[in-house]
Amino acid sequence: MQTQDSSNTSLLITSGSTSILVDTSGSPAQALLQRNFNPDLLDAIVLTHAHVDHLYALPSLLHNLWMRKRQKELLIVGNSETLEAAKQLYQFFHLDCKPSLDSIICWADACKQVGDIEIETFSLYHRPQMTTQGYTFFDGTGKVAYFPDSVVQKPYPDCAENSQLLIHEVGGLDVDRQALHHDGHSSAFEVAQLAKTLNAQALLLVHLPPSKAIHSAILEEASGIFPTVRMPMEYSSFIVS
Ligand SMILES: [Zn+2]
Ligand SMILES: [Zn+2]
Repeated sequence: MQTQDSSNTSLLITSGSTSILVDTSGSPAQALLQRNFNPDLLDAIVLTHAHVDHLYALPSLLHNLWMRKRQKELLIVGNSETLEAAKQLYQFFHLDCKPSLDSIICWADACKQVGDIEIETFSLYHRPQMTTQGYTFFDGTGKVAYFPDSVVQKPYPDCAENSQLLIHEVGGLDVDRQALHHDGHSSAFEVAQLAKTLNAQALLLVHLPPSKAIHSAILEEASGIFPTVRMPMEYSSFIVS
C-alpha cells in the first residue's frame, strides 16, 4: 500500500548491460531517472500478476517510452492472464494506435533469457482467479528469487534454491496466519522458514502491511528463524554476486 514514504512494490534487476523491471508501480520512468537509470535501456518488464498495485503504472511507463522515442524492442513478460489484463490497459489508453511503440513491444508468456539474465518462473497461490508468478533471475554468478503476493505453500520451488537474495512479500505476523492466507498473503514466520529451507543467503521483506507499528515485530519474527533479514527502504539497492 502507498504511504507517505513508500510506493507499491517494483524491482529493477540489472546485470551488465541487461535490465529488467519487475512490476510497474509509482511513476516508473521518473523513479528510474531519479536513480540515474535511463528507462530507454530497459530490456524487459516482467509482471507477476494482474492486481492493480502491480500493474497500474504500465500504461504510463509505455507512454513515457513512446514520448522518449524509444526504438529498442521491449519484452513484456507474464502469464497469459496477466498479459491479457496488461493488454487491456494498453488498448484502453490507445497505446496500440501508436505504431512506433506498438512495433517494438513483444508480449511473451514464456521467456527463459533476457540478455545476460536467465529467468525461471514458478506458479504461486495468491487469490482465487488470480494466477500469480514468482521468478528467479540468474546471471551466472548471482541469483535473485522473487516471491510476490502469495501464500507460502509446499513444495517450495526448486529453482529458487540457493539464491543470494530471496525477496518475499509479507502480510503480517504468524498469529494472524489464517486471516493472511484468506487475503492471499504470508506471515513473517512462514517466509523465514521458506528462506531457510531454500538455503537463501539473505531475505528481503517487501509489500509490508501499511501500519509501521507492526514492522519491527515482523522483522523480529523472521529474524528468529532466519539470520539475515532486511526490510529495504524505498530505492534501496543490493549487489548480488
Ligand atoms: Zn496481489
Ligand atoms: Zn500487491
